[in-house]
Amino acid sequence: MATQTSTRPQLSYLTEQLNQFKQKGTYFRLRVLDDEQAPVCTFDGKRVINLASNNYLGLTTHPRLREAALQATRKYGVGSGAVRTIAGTMKIHMELEEKIARFKNVEASVVFQSGFAANAGTVSAVLGKEDFIISDELNHASIIDGARLSRAAIKVFRHKDVAHAEELLKEVAGQPGHKLLITDGVFSMDGDVAPLPALCDLAEKYGAIMMVDDAHASGVLGRNGRGTIDHFHVHGRVDIQVGTLSKAVGALGGYVCGSRDLIDFLYHRARPFLFSTSHPPSVAASCIAAFEVLEQEPERIEKLWDNTRYWKKELGNLGYNIGGVNTPASETPITPIIIGDGKLTMDFSRELFKEGVMGTGIAFPTVPEGKARVRTIVTATHTREELDGALEVLRRVGKRMGILR
Ligand SMILES: *Cc1c(COP(=O)(O)O)cnc(C)c1O
Repeated sequence: MATQTSTRPQLSYLTEQLNQFKQKGTYFRLRVLDDEQAPVCTFDGKRVINLASNNYLGLTTHPRLREAALQATRKYGVGSGAVRTIAGTMKIHMELEEKIARFKNVEASVVFQSGFAANAGTVSAVLGKEDFIISDELNHASIIDGARLSRAAIKVFRHKDVAHAEELLKEVAGQPGHKLLITDGVFSMDGDVAPLPALCDLAEKYGAIMMVDDAHASGVLGRNGRGTIDHFHVHGRVDIQVGTLSKAVGALGGYVCGSRDLIDFLYHRARPFLFSTSHPPSVAASCIAAFEVLEQEPERIEKLWDNTRYWKKELGNLGYNIGGVNTPASETPITPIIIGDGKLTMDFSRELFKEGVMGTGIAFPTVPEGKARVRTIVTATHTREELDGALEVLRRVGKRMGILR
């Protein structure tokens, strides 16, 4: 059989588009990690201080999570063998869901293969074409895709603008369909936090379903990392809570928390649950261990916030724009260094890498035109020396490129 060696004419339009990306300077190659996801690690053969991962608490390499995965693999094998509704629900999946529900103090929880699947699967299952989705303009792509799949009418409010959200709710108040008010808990590109209490007030005033995606808040905000609902004390006022197991929790997956009936309904109608195989037992085991670590090692979260405060202060002292002027002000470990121009941002990121700092350049369409940035995330496991080392590189490269005066 002949091996396919090049793009056939049917797909040549993709090559043309790639060439356009190259012209615009937005084309990228994947950086490949040679070792563990750690504060200092090796990408493409180069040792760098890693400011790019979501491994907030260092759990990707925590001995307890590692051991749990190995034990589960020995005991149960490497795969679940089916989707949850056919034969792929293992006891360890149920244990994880019970653990999450207890942790979040809700009736029930269901785990999806990823946070993306949790959002897309839930929004598209709960809403239909007669319904309305009122969504923050900076909500995650998985919410947007779920909203589109639902075929509900989508109304987008200006970022964190509660008055605008109310206008939109008023517009549809007379319509018979269900209304969903939906927001990220922490916004992934700017690191700012949703105005949750005010949004809960609105949802109650207009009888809307309230949904929060806490991907970047899971393990970061609230007691022991219980998320924004706990942080703002709005327990019982959010109908659908989504969290991720892929970021601070250190493994992979997404979960939905809510009432028993909500979760039962998702068992019956959420398409990633019905049509895609469940996690390997090792993943479920790692996640169970991770929630134990969240409960037993709160000092990790304290260290995360300690490092975050230090990092923001020192970056500001260097003279970088870390948000808050024409962009939202970060309130979490996500700290953007706003550059503005897309090409300059990508060049800056590359220069940082050459000097031993990994910070991802993010440009349009992921963030608005003119607001390109290098996004940095410090973790609980960065040492002060590592942070100082990264700051020195940022100072040097920033001056050399004329970004700092
Ligand atoms: C990362 C992220 C997701 C997706 O989570 P995965 O588990 O990586 O699929 C969903 N929502 C938000 C806001 C995120 O930042």
